[in-house]
Amino acid sequence: MTFSELGLRAELLSAVEAQGYTTPTPIQLKAIPAVLKGGDLLASAQTGTGKTAGFTLPMLQRLADGPRPAKRQVRALVLTPTRELAAQVGESVADYGRHLTLRSHVIFGGVGQQPQVDAIRAGLDILVATPGRLLDLHQQKHIDLSRVEILVLDEADRMLDMGFIHDIKKILRALPEKRQNLLFSATFSNEIQALAGKLLDNPVMIEVARRNTTAELVDQAIYRVDREKKRDLLAHLITAQKWQQVLVFTRTKHGANRLAEQLSKQDIPSMAIHGNKSQTARTRALAAFKDGNLQVLVATDIAARGLDINELPHVVNFELPNVAEDYVHRIGRTGRAGSEGKAVSLVCVDEHGLLKGIERLIKRDLEKRIEPGFEPDPNARPEPIENGRGARSGRNNGRKPDQAKRGNSGNTDTTQANRRRRRGGQGARQA
Ligand code: AMP
Repeated sequence: MTFSELGLRAELLSAVEAQGYTTPTPIQLKAIPAVLKGGDLLASAQTGTGKTAGFTLPMLQRLADGPRPAKRQVRALVLTPTRELAAQVGESVADYGRHLTLRSHVIFGGVGQQPQVDAIRAGLDILVATPGRLLDLHQQKHIDLSRVEILVLDEADRMLDMGFIHDIKKILRALPEKRQNLLFSATFSNEIQALAGKLLDNPVMIEVARRNTTAELVDQAIYRVDREKKRDLLAHLITAQKWQQVLVFTRTKHGANRLAEQLSKQDIPSMAIHGNKSQTARTRALAAFKDGNLQVLVATDIAARGLDINELPHVVNFELPNVAEDYVHRIGRTGRAGSEGKAVSLVCVDEHGLLKGIERLIKRDLEKRIEPGFEPDPNARPEPIENGRGARSGRNNGRKPDQAKRGNSGNTDTTQANRRRRRGGQGARQA
C-alpha cells in the first residue's frame, strides 16, 4: 500500500516524498482513511509509530478540501502535553503542508506571548498548542476557538498525568459542539477512557503494536553496578564503546543537571534538558544534539516525552523509571524506522524491584552484564529511591506517602534527605 492509494492529494504526496517516506506505517494505514472520512478516532499509539503524520496528513487534506471562511479562523487545534512535542508537531504540519496555502502556528508557555498574539491576529488555520498558554491567550480574548472543525489531543495520557485535565475541559467549552475529534494516547487508563467517553462520538478505534512488542531492533541490556559508580561506568562505556549520540535518562531534574555537569568535566560534552530550563536553553540543547554537535543529552521523562530524534543509536537509563511503562517510552527513542539501537540500563541494588516490574511488563528477562572494573559490591544494601516526578496512580514503590510527595518537587535531593533521616531519626526530617 502506498500513500497515494490512501487517497491523499498531490500536494501532500509530494511533501511526504520529500521527507523520504515510501510506505505508510501501520498507524498511518489505519488512521489516514479513517480521519479522511470525517469521524472521530481513538488511537493507541506511541511516539515512534509515525502517529504525527497519521493525523497531520488527513487533517491538512480535510482543511484544504473544505470550505474556507471569508476570514482566516482557527479550524484545527492540536493540543500536546509538552513544548517540545508542540514544536515538533508544528514542524510536521509545516513540512507536510508546504504546498498548501494553510497557515499554522505553534504556541506554548515559557516564552514571550506577544509574537504568538501577533501570529494569531494575522490569521491562522491550524494552531498547535500546549493547554496552559492556549487557555491564557483565550482568557485574554486573543483567540477565537469557535470555528474549530478538528480537535487533536496528542499524547492525551501524558496530558492527564501532567494535570492538564481542567485546562482541557475549559478549552473544550470554547469549541463548537460539532467537530471532529482525534484522541491519541499510549495507554488507556480509566481516566483516558472517561475522557474518550465524553469527547468522542462513535469513534473508529485503532491500536498498533506497542513498542514493547515491536522493539526487537533494540538491543537491551542491564549493567549491574553500585549506585556510586554509575557515573564513572557511564563515562567509561561512552568512551570505550565510542558512543557518539547518547540520550541519558535520569529520574530528577537535579540529577540531570548534576550528571551533565560531571560528564562535561570528563570531556564528554553534555547538556541537561528538563522543565526548569528556559525554552531557549531546551531548544538550543536539542538542536545541538540533533545536529550531532552535542554528544550527550541528559533528560527527565517529561522533557524527553515525544522528542523526535531519528534513529538514535544509544539510550541509557542512568536510573530506572518508577513507572514500568516509562521504560518502554524511553527505549522507544532508539531502534526506530528500521535502524538498530542500543538501550542500556545502569541498575544498582536499590532498583531490583523496579527491574522486575519492567521485565514483567515487557514479558522477557533482560540480559544482565557486569563491566570489568565496575563489579557491584555483593553486600550492598538497598536505599530508598530518589523520586523526581512522584508516584503516579498511587504507585509509590512502597514508600510512605509523605516520602513520595516530598520527591514530587523534583528540586530536592531526597536521597540525601532520606539517608540523613535514617541516620538521624525524626530530628533530621526538616533537613
Ligand atoms: P512519530 O511517531 O510521529 O513521532 O514519528 C516517528 C518518526 O517516524 C518520525 O521521525 C517521522 O519522521 C518518521 N516517520 C513517520 N512516518 C514515516 C514513514 N511512513 N516512513 C518512515 N518514517 C516515518
